[in-house]
Amino acid sequence: MHRRMMFLVFFAALLAMSTSAVLVRGQVPTTAAPQAPTGLIATTSASEHFDPAAATNAYLAKVPPDKRAKSDAYFEGGYWLILWNFLLSAVVFLLLLATGWSARMRGLAERITRFKPIQTFLYWTQFMVLTSLLTFPLGVYEGYFREHKYGLATQTFGPWLGDQLKGLGLTVVLGGLLMMALYGIVRRLPRTWWIWGAMASLLFLTFVSLIEPVFIAPLFNKYTRLEDPAIRDPILSMARANGISAKDVFVQDASRQTTRVSAFVTGFLNTERIVLNDNLLKRCSVAEIEAVMGHEMGHYVMHHDYNGLLFFGVLIVLGFAFLRKSSEWALTRWGDKWGTHTVGDLAALPLFALLIFTYFFVLTPIDNTYSRTQEYEADIFGLNAARQPDAEAEVDLKLADYRKLDPGRIEEFLFYDHPSGRTRIYAAMRWKAEHLNELGNREQGIGNRSKR
Ligand SMILES: [Zn+2]
Repeated sequence: MHRRMMFLVFFAALLAMSTSAVLVRGQVPTTAAPQAPTGLIATTSASEHFDPAAATNAYLAKVPPDKRAKSDAYFEGGYWLILWNFLLSAVVFLLLLATGWSARMRGLAERITRFKPIQTFLYWTQFMVLTSLLTFPLGVYEGYFREHKYGLATQTFGPWLGDQLKGLGLTVVLGGLLMMALYGIVRRLPRTWWIWGAMASLLFLTFVSLIEPVFIAPLFNKYTRLEDPAIRDPILSMARANGISAKDVFVQDASRQTTRVSAFVTGFLNTERIVLNDNLLKRCSVAEIEAVMGHEMGHYVMHHDYNGLLFFGVLIVLGFAFLRKSSEWALTRWGDKWGTHTVGDLAALPLFALLIFTYFFVLTPIDNTYSRTQEYEADIFGLNAARQPDAEAEVDLKLADYRKLDPGRIEEFLFYDHPSGRTRIYAAMRWKAEHLNELGNREQGIGNRSKR
């Protein structure tokens, strides 16, 4: 009866997956060659009249206007892409319903087999392939041409497309399993499917988070042990000081896709893993790497993974409740036109997709604010763990390659899933101002370490 709801849940879970991946791994991209650490600001720290606001402005002023304009343009373009992606998807889903393609895909699945779960999987496969094709022009612009235009991508078209196809394959298989479960629930529990569907989706989300580092991430990148003790040992020492029992640090060959710098600490049930990407190693000093890793350890120590699952759990339950009401309303109104009347009818899946996309589109600022709050917490944790406020500020400037440094307040609230450069640098400089005495002895040595 309520099969359509299942589709929505599936989409919600997929969306949540991609969002939470971003959320848990603070991306620290950088394209610029490392600049010498700022002597100006480092020396100021010795002074007793260190002004965090002035120090923040001095850091921001280090980015030349043309670079600033470029990163502002890249980031602001992203605001519009949120809208275009939503609108294009909405048009595609409505097209599938209005033209009867969705009903035809269901018919084909039913002709191939009488076994319901396989019908669900076959419909899902057709649906994913068709929608991927129809949204491909925007996807290739956003993911390939635009990234190259701004110097953020390293892949040629073939390998890029290969990664996209791998991603599609994963979505077909993993999403197909979730869809089979959700439609099974709708068939058996026509009245309460939305509650059980939300539970199943949350379980699925947890399962995918669990297997992601071990089974999914290695499909796209290679992970090797970091052997250089000059970098590895301080990281492991900081990890031990914060209760993370890792014995190795791993390097991800992210440079095969991107120039962005990132790192993460991940793992459940004694599989803790500290990972940094090769861009971080190439472009940052040891002090900057420590600042980044302190932030990532903050995510881990403060259980941001688990908190994120809880947060998305609430969103998913509310989302299912919304799906239930809104799908019934839409099917009553337009069901005749679309040739589909019940939630359990596979042909109504595009409606659920449309409703889920709408739901998450509207929730974008809330989603961003949740993520940004956790990122800020991790920043503060990282400052205390790594005690490298100037290195933190330098890394924040490198993030300006792809994230607007100094947005307005409302802009930051609506669109930022990480704090802006200004917010982060100010937090670092305020921390520095309040710990000047403790830092006094270390300052020189740190500021002048060679960049990796
Ligand atoms: Zn982060």
